[in-house]
Amino acid sequence: MDLKQIYQTRWFSWLSTGNPMISDFLFRIRPILAQLAVRVAVLQNSGREFRGPCYNPAGGLQIGVTNACNAACVFCAYRLVKTQSTRKVMTMDMFKRSAFQWRSLGGSHIDFVNAVGEPLLDTGLLDKISYARTVGISTLSLTTNGIRLFQAVPALVTSGLTRIDVSMGDADKCDYAEVFGVNECESVWCGVESLLQHNAEIGNPCVINLRIRSKHRPSLTLRSSRFQRIKHYLSEKVRVSFAAEYDTWGGTIPASDLRGVMRHSRPLPNWKIPCIGLRQPTICTDGRVRMCGCRFAITDEDELVIGNLNEKVTLGVILERTRDLIQRFTSGNRPKICRDCSIYWPMSTKRLLPGTQNGHQVEG
Ligand code: SF4
Ligand code: SF4
Repeated sequence: MDLKQIYQTRWFSWLSTGNPMISDFLFRIRPILAQLAVRVAVLQNSGREFRGPCYNPAGGLQIGVTNACNAACVFCAYRLVKTQSTRKVMTMDMFKRSAFQWRSLGGSHIDFVNAVGEPLLDTGLLDKISYARTVGISTLSLTTNGIRLFQAVPALVTSGLTRIDVSMGDADKCDYAEVFGVNECESVWCGVESLLQHNAEIGNPCVINLRIRSKHRPSLTLRSSRFQRIKHYLSEKVRVSFAAEYDTWGGTIPASDLRGVMRHSRPLPNWKIPCIGLRQPTICTDGRVRMCGCRFAITDEDELVIGNLNEKVTLGVILERTRDLIQRFTSGNRPKICRDCSIYWPMSTKRLLPGTQNGHQVEG
């Protein structure tokens, strides 16, 4: 087990949330652990060669069902980015093509998440979840800002989703608005309470992660009356975590935009081991295929976009183009967006296993 795995383990998350004082302490040391963990992982994997296919069916396919959002978080590039497509919702046809082709490649996990965009703004989301299940996608996860959660909850917990992550803010209305850019504190916390209640009533079919982005230390949220109302739902399947640091989105977000204890993570050296992000494909709302779909800089049309599902080629063929990006890493010529990236993580080439899909090897 490496350091990253250790600080992501359940006992660590429990320690982080079980006691306000311990939580604050861990919140302070977490950035140091993260820096240490990535260096250990680099050491473990240096000198190894990347082998195997460019796509990893054992991982998930991220699908951006919409690139529109109803928040304007200070730590996110949504409010600043120049997008190549207008703000819209993915068509059912494009979604079917994405899900079906991913399943054909051996994939069984779809993640409804996008670099920017709020999936609950897609009124056809439940139909998309339902379709994904009919083609054999068994793991379905979603990340939401929770603003529309209250209205969506009963149907969402029985939809077939296996995990719901809520990226949420402070329990105090003014603090929430300062970080998320909208006055939706009440709807988010009510929505979360309703989500936890409905999920618990039917035996917790969804794992729920409450990811709190706060301008304060964790103890303030943990001691708030809003948190006390939901605390009893915490379990192995319902967890809370606090973001300790934030990425700059390729230098797009100035440090002056962050609030309170929020701070940017330190950029990492440009190691030659390819980044794990190159094995995490995203289908953008308009059909573009992008590797590392959780970050871009000032524009979402950059060197990590490797194709478009509107082309007359399959997803498998498009994903093979990642080989060029991997080669650029190993030759010391990273794409611009990847230089000095603070969320870099080296591919674990030692974990390549004999292939189970398409005669290739896959990374576990
Ligand atoms: S972080 Fe999420 S919720 Fe906030 S502006 Fe960006 S896409 Fe919207
Ligand atoms: S280096 Fe950063 S931007 Fe590049 S693939 Fe990795 S995480 Fe994504």
